Formats: sequence, structure tokens, C-alpha cells
Amino acid sequence: AAKQNGGNGAQAYNLDMYQRVRQRVGLEQDLTLALAQQQFSLSFQPQMEVSSGKLVGFEALIRWKHPERGHVPPDHFIPVLEQNRQIIPLGYWIIERCLQLSLSLQYAGWHDLRIAINLSAEQFSDPELFNRLTALLQQYEVDGRFIELELTERTLVQDIDCMLQRMQQIKTLGVHLAIDDFGTGYSSLNYLKQMPMDSIKIDKSFLSGMLENRADGQIITSIIAMMHQLELQVVAEGVETTQQLEFLRQHGCDMAQGYLIARPIPQTELLGYIEQHFTQGVWHPQQP
Ligand code: C2E
Ligand code: MG
Ligand code: MG
Ligand code: MG
Repeated sequence: AAKQNGGNGAQAYNLDMYQRVRQRVGLEQDLTLALAQQQFSLSFQPQMEVSSGKLVGFEALIRWKHPERGHVPPDHFIPVLEQNRQIIPLGYWIIERCLQLSLSLQYAGWHDLRIAINLSAEQFSDPELFNRLTALLQQYEVDGRFIELELTERTLVQDIDCMLQRMQQIKTLGVHLAIDDFGTGYSSLNYLKQMPMDSIKIDKSFLSGMLENRADGQIITSIIAMMHQLELQVVAEGVETTQQLEFLRQHGCDMAQGYLIARPIPQTELLGYIEQHFTQGVWHPQQP
């Protein structure tokens, strides 16, 4: 853009800024409308136990179908919602939908499946979180152990005492706590030791590099060994190949999630999908 504008760097920079601000404002207006018009939906991606192939639950992933722009990826709009704090009301809508799903799974005879919900740092530091969560679990009569909250390392470096207290409160509900995208942030092992975590999710970038890059494989095996020492379960995300799954099995990784096992499935198709692909609750690899 700088050259097209006659090489005036400052002017180009301003134009760029202007465009970015315009895009952002446009997106923000669209998001407000999207919230009102319910353009959001949830997809659910299965998680399974590596050793047995047993279905253990799902991760809820938000989807936005924009009337003109089509599907907008969460990595594009979640940061905007975080910045203008609309992620908080949207977040409670997501939690409520997950509780409804948890109930319908149980009615359908799928007991013991856990639903993992991504929580932004802004949501986790909302002072109302604990009370709202308590009330929603009661309202839907869902046991806390069927819900897991995925926090990121960004959440954990905020006011640590306050966060620890909140985690302990939430643990009293039986809700599981996990650290998402583990290995990409700054979580100190010392903090991790103090936190009432149940599991960590190894970031998918380590998985994608694993088979070519020896270091990534070694990082994965070290994380698994270290987390087991801390009595935490390990989930691998982004599992795309049978070689990766086999590697994880050999090194005692507890859970796996990824396109190899299943893509995120729209909520309306979920029951049919799992009945077909997880007969008796166990994953059946597709015959090639
Ligand atoms: P995340 O929580 O780390 O979610 C995992 C992402 O990896 C998802 O992308 C998922 O679709 C994708 N994925 C799953 N399996 C594979 C695989 O085998 N290979 C590859 N390459 N990717 C795989 P998605 O749905 O685009 O979400 C991106 C991020 O947006 C999430 O990362 C999460 O940070 C955020 N996000 C999504 N839904 C929500 C939500 O409901 N609330 C909040 N606060 N954030 C959300
Ligand atoms: Mg996640
Ligand atoms: Mg992740
Ligand atoms: Mg992520």
C-alpha cells in the first residue's frame, strides 16, 4: 500500500490504521446484530481416551455464520468480543447451551460425557462467574462434573491470588478445570503446582511438528511425564494422523482430540453422529 500511495510511509500507515479501525467498527456492529439475531451456533468436537478409544466428551466451539460474509472463524471475532467485553454475555449463552446439551445427552442414554467450554480471561475474571455458574447448574440440574472450563495461560497470569481463589470456588461445584494451548504461554510450573487443575491440553502446534521435528516429540513426551507427576491428565489436541495417535498411545497420553477422530460437529447432528461413529461408546476408525 505504501508504494501505491506515492511512497509516503506515514500516510500509508494512517490509511492502514483507518482501514483497520473501519473494519473493526464494522465487525463490532455486525457482532452486536449477530448476538441479537442469533447467528451463532455451537459445534462439538469429540474427545476420546487414548488407551481405549472410549468417548469421554466434547469441546464446544463457537460458530458464526455472517449473512454476507459466510463463516467467520472464531480467531477473527473472539478477540474483538474480548476487547469490547461482549464475550461475557455471549459466554453465558454458550454455557447455557452446553448445559442444555448435557441434559439431552443424558436423556438419550449417554451418561458420563463431559462438555468442555472455552473461557476467555475476561470471562474468568467476571466477578459474577461463580454465582452465575452455580445458578445455571442448579437451573438445568446438571452435575458440575459434566462440565469442564478451558482456561488459557493468559488467564493464569492475571492477579494470581484472585484467580486461585476463583478456581477453588469453582472446584467446589465439581466442575473440571483445564489449561488450553499448553506450552504456548507463560504459565510457570510453580503456579501450576498450586492450582486445582484437572488436565492440560497440549497445543496442536507441537502435534503438527511432532513427526518431522524431534524436539516437538520430546517436548510432548516430557509434558506428559511431568503432568503425570503433578497428577494432571493430558489431552492432545490437533491429532490428525494414526502415527500421531500411536505415538501418544506409546507415551501414555490420556486423551486425544482432532480431525483424525472427528471434526467439530454441528449440535443438530451430534447425537446421530456419535451413535454412528462411537458404537457402544467406543471410536471406530473409518476404513480407508
Ligand atoms: P482452541 O480452544 O484451542 O480450539 C481448538 C481449535 O483447533 C478449534 O478451532 C478446532 O476446530 C481446531 N481443531 C480441532 N482439531 C483439529 C485438528 O486436527 N487440526 C487442526 N489444524 N485444527 C483442529 P476453532 O473452532 O477455529 O477455534 C479457534 C479458537 O477460538 C479456539 O482454540 C478458542 O481459543 C477460541 N474459541 C472457540 N470457541 C470459543 C468459545 O465458545 N468461547 C471462547 N471464549 N473462545 C472460543
Ligand atoms: Mg479449547
Ligand atoms: Mg487449544
Ligand atoms: Mg487456541
